[in-house]
Amino acid sequence: MPSYVIPEKCDGCKALDKTACQHICPNDLMVLNKDIMKAYNREPEMCWECYNCVKICPTQAIEVRGYADFVPMGATVTPMRSSDSILWTVKFRNGMLKRFKFPIRTTSEGTAEPEGGYSTEPDLNSEVLFTEPDSIGMDQMWTK
Ligand code: SF4
Ligand code: SF4
Repeated sequence: MPSYVIPEKCDGCKALDKTACQHICPNDLMVLNKDIMKAYNREPEMCWECYNCVKICPTQAIEVRGYADFVPMGATVTPMRSSDSILWTVKFRNGMLKRFKFPIRTTSEGTAEPEGGYSTEPDLNSEVLFTEPDSIGMDQMWTK
């Protein structure tokens, strides 16, 4: 079930150096045809349907399409991201629509603390996690 770029919707990310779908694909599958400014999946059989490109595309130009022999024709699953949630629209074969909205973060944008509030300096030679011993409620880690 590889990703598919709908040419009419793709604007090539307005000629940026690297498109959003190129940036996000963990399998490095998306490429941009600079002659027509449209992206495409260069090796559909290598796509693992992670939906990253689908979710990040600013123009909703990418779909993950099931092969017609095992997915009912016309059924689609389309995500739409906002800054704090993602809305999935599921279209069934008979045309019925269902929508599901889920929060995607617990803090407002730009406020997440990368180290979770722990100020411990990471010690790459240490056997303990960098938040320990604070994160397990101890003053110091036990040793043999
Ligand atoms: S992210 Fe969307 S709009 Fe941008 S190049 Fe890829 S398919 Fe086109
Ligand atoms: S669905 Fe995932 S693996 Fe497939 S092209 Fe998109 S980002 Fe890459």
